[in-house]
Amino acid sequence: MEFITLNNGTKMPLEGFGVFQIPDASECEKVVYNALKTGYRLIDTAAAYMNEEAVGKTVARAIAEGIVTRDELFITTKVWVQDQKTEKTAYEAVKTSLSKLNLEYVNLILLHQPMGDYFAAYRGIERAYEEGLTRAIGVSNFYPAVLTNFCENVKTVPAVNQIELHPYFSQSDALENMKTYGIIPQAWGPLAEGKHGIFTDPEISAIGEKYGKSNAQVVLRWNTQRGVSVIPKSVKVERMEQNIDIWDFTLTDDEMAVINAKDLGHSEIVDHSNVGFVKALNGMNIH
Ligand code: NDP
Repeated sequence: MEFITLNNGTKMPLEGFGVFQIPDASECEKVVYNALKTGYRLIDTAAAYMNEEAVGKTVARAIAEGIVTRDELFITTKVWVQDQKTEKTAYEAVKTSLSKLNLEYVNLILLHQPMGDYFAAYRGIERAYEEGLTRAIGVSNFYPAVLTNFCENVKTVPAVNQIELHPYFSQSDALENMKTYGIIPQAWGPLAEGKHGIFTDPEISAIGEKYGKSNAQVVLRWNTQRGVSVIPKSVKVERMEQNIDIWDFTLTDDEMAVINAKDLGHSEIVDHSNVGFVKALNGMNIH
């Protein structure tokens, strides 16, 4: 595993494990337990994933069984839009997440979306950071137009911005923008959530054949090689093992260029300028 140093000196594994769309508690416990046994040390959850309790329970079990220590773990959670109303609602949401996770601190707290009063909400997570409830704070889905103004007006520049990043939406402009502010980009949907035929794309397969790697491994490697942290999700142990086995090969500049050329320039998963989408997220009640 490689590590990256965040802008406040905190070390973060470059690869982690995402737990979106595993709301069933017993399945989530099984999956997180297997992920920790496989070697993942960064777990990415969120209040909105409705599985913080399952993650917390499994982390406690893995620590009790000597699989990991708390110091080795990097736990991320996110404040949902519903709580991005005031400094107080966001701060209280952090406390609720800590209680569900049964942890004294998390390693990273993100504002989940650039929605609601995100400046006020950020002050809430800044307070949590200053009180030691989290080792770092950041944002998610903050695209350049929003992020630039945000960075110019907050006390603590975000350590991480978690956005959709995969070969079909590679967002090199957003990466350049984050570099300006020393923000680490983290890829959600690093496997494009299985869209675009990513697992059978012949050009990616041809690259993989050279190294004896699957398409999933090639695209995860591509992102990490351009300095992007990745948090792939899989409920299957064999895929968890595959997705973390990406540190023993290096793509050439030409191979990186082949993958860069797949960019469509837009997402086919989310649309933050779509009224229906924004209304739906603003209306999503997680409490
Ligand atoms: P991913 O791009 O990680 O894709 C997950 C899909 O790929 C699942 O269907 C999984 O199936 C399949 N898969 C995983 N590995 C392989 C493999 N090696 N071969 C073939 N299929 C594979 O999508 P996610 O949306 O889950 O993104 C990852 C994480 O990012 C989330 O879990 C979450 O933590 C975070 N996220 C954050 C968002 C945000 O707004 N901040 C939005 C979306 C995600 P199976 O499980 O059956 O193996």
